[in-house]
Order: sequence, then structure tokens, then C-alpha cells
Amino acid sequence: MIYLDYSATTKTNEEVLTSFLKASNEYFANANSLYKLGVEAKTLIDKSTLQIANILNIKPSEIIYTSGATESNNTVIKSIAHTYKNRGNHIITTELEHSSIYEPLTYLEKEGFVIDYVKTDENGLVDLNDLDRLINDDTILVTIASVNSEIGIRQPIEEIAKIIKKYPKCFFHTDITQSIGKDIIDLRDVDFASLSAHKFYGIKGIGILIKKENIVIEPLIHGGKSTTSIRSGTPPLPLIVSTAKALRLAYQELDIKINKVKELNKYLKENIIKNENIIINSNNNSIPHIINISVLGIKPETMQHALEEYDIYISTRTACSTKDYSRSVMALTGREDLASHSIRVSLSHLTTKEEIDEFLNKFELCYNKLISLKK
Ligand code: PMP
Repeated sequence: MIYLDYSATTKTNEEVLTSFLKASNEYFANANSLYKLGVEAKTLIDKSTLQIANILNIKPSEIIYTSGATESNNTVIKSIAHTYKNRGNHIITTELEHSSIYEPLTYLEKEGFVIDYVKTDENGLVDLNDLDRLINDDTILVTIASVNSEIGIRQPIEEIAKIIKKYPKCFFHTDITQSIGKDIIDLRDVDFASLSAHKFYGIKGIGILIKKENIVIEPLIHGGKSTTSIRSGTPPLPLIVSTAKALRLAYQELDIKINKVKELNKYLKENIIKNENIIINSNNNSIPHIINISVLGIKPETMQHALEEYDIYISTRTACSTKDYSRSVMALTGREDLASHSIRVSLSHLTTKEEIDEFLNKFELCYNKLISLKK
């Protein structure tokens, strides 16, 4: 099998699984129980939370555990809207976000919130002047992903944060789901950030919402005590412990891993079959892990299934998207033909050159076969 869909999800690391199992076996008590077993469980959660906070350079009290980035995104967007609706009804985002950003925003639009989309330039980068121009007295939130999930474009989060800081009534949220574990992220001037553990070889079903100290928000999920009052439910200790492990492993030798992915990225781009129907949408601002390619004349699903015949797995936009074309590719290129024919190949430091060779070989084979069928 050649798995080239690491940006959709990753296989759980063995060591992470071991820590999940060990924690499940040895610390099964509810961390909010007052007896000894509960106190021991709470101590372990606190230790893991501190480790996560240290890696992300934030405070442990700023970590809210959720079921994943979808819940984190929903929480921050709906909670800010509902808590601060008396301040204003204006939210700013981009055309390069994930559906777990668009869907809650669309939901809020029906409640009377106004959503604006900041311009991006020909490289997909947020136009900082346009952002400055769009923020007004009613703006309560700006939400912009650090890295776009389809094309991999990395936004200048620190510069964006500096602009938003000038407006004390406006919060800044960044979805770091595609950066976490692959890139160094500076969260100093960010108010909120969302992530999921399964993108960095952790387990599916846990995510984090980072909320900077002293910001008050209404919970989205009400109930009993958890690790924070913002998100109720029995603390998922084994998931928390394994997330700390996965994060520590992800940031070990990060430079070496990034350089390996950069080389694989370059090799793939240099050697992929070249003709006017094959257009690489990812650019110099994209992280090396994501290569978005439009294959004109062939439906993305058809290409995906053709490669699947060879046990090769890539993605089309459909796994997360609610549209028939890629909104991100449309925003970047302005071309519907490119947007409706894009596939995403996503790499890992675990990917080998042999796997890329095999992919290139079979990609060419599938392309030639499918194009000839159309003639
Ligand atoms: N945001 C981004 C940028 C993503 O790539 C994803 C996962 N595709 C999510 C949010 C949602 O993550 P999850 O499915 O783990 O909730």
C-alpha cells in the first residue's frame, strides 16, 4: 500500500498506541473522583497537559480538550458569537478555510451575523491591507487557518495577529490543524487555536481548543465537570496522555523530517508527467507536505479510484468539502476547470522515494489510460 493522504489523517504511532493502552489499563478512574484513583488520574492528566502546553509555548490553563478540530472550530465560532453578540455581529474569514469553519459561519449568518471574506493575493496569501480595511467596530472575530488543508498555503499568522491586536474588541482564531506537528507555530498574539491529534500520528477523537487566559466564552457543550468548565464530559485520560506523547514525538527532529518531506516534494514535482492538462496548484507558500494538482479532463474521483486499483491512496476535495469543486483552488486560481479537477497528494516524513517513484509511474499509467478512453 502507498498511502499519500497524510493530511486527511495519519496512522497512529505504535508508541502512542502503547501509551493509550497503558493509560487505559492503569488509570481508568474518573479524574474528577475524589478518591485516590481519581487523584492519581488527575495528576497524570495535569502532567500531560503541562507537556502539551510547554511544547506549544502556552499555559496549561489555556488548553480545552475537545473531540477534534471540528468541535474546536464550532466552539470558538459559536461561543464568541453568542457571548459577544452585544459587541457586534461581524466576522471575517478567508476563502481558504475548512468546512468546519464555513458551516458554523453559515449557521450564524442565519442568525443575523455578517461574514466577510478577506482578499487573498495571486499566491493565496491574505491581503493584510484588505484585512485592516475590513475590521470595523462590529468585528468580533477573525478566523484564518495557519495552513490551508487542500493546497497547503501557509499564512503569515504573526503578521495577521499584529493587525488584529490593534482592535481590542476583536478576537483572532487560527485553525492550526494542518500545521501542528509539521511546522513551528507562534501562538503569542493569537487568542484561539484549534487542532486534532490524528493529524500528527495521534488517536482520532481528541482535539484541543487553545483559549488564551482571561477570555470569557460560553460553553458549547454544557454538563458536568471535566478538565475545564468550557467543555463538559468525563476527562478522556488515555486520549490526553497519548496526545502528549504524539506531540512530543512529532516535534522530535522536526528539521530532519521537514527536510526529508521537502526533498520528496521537489522530486515528485520534478518528475510528474508534464503536459498542459497537469497543473500544480500548490506554490512556494505551500508547506512541502501538500501537493495539489489539477488533472484536466479527468474527474478527481476517477483518478482516485484508478490509483486505488494499484493500492495507492490520494485525496479529492470531497472528504471534507461540501461543494462540487475545490473552494480553495477556485479562490487561488479563479478557474473553475482547475477547481473541479484537483487532487491532493499529501506526504509524510514516513514516505519513501520508492513510494513516490511508484506513485509517479502509476499516475502516468492511469492518466494515459483515462485520457485515451475519452478520445
Ligand atoms: N481544520 C482543518 C484545516 C482540517 O484539515 C481538518 C481535517 N481535515 C479539520 C479542521 C477537522 O478536523 P477533524 O475532522 O479532526 O475534526
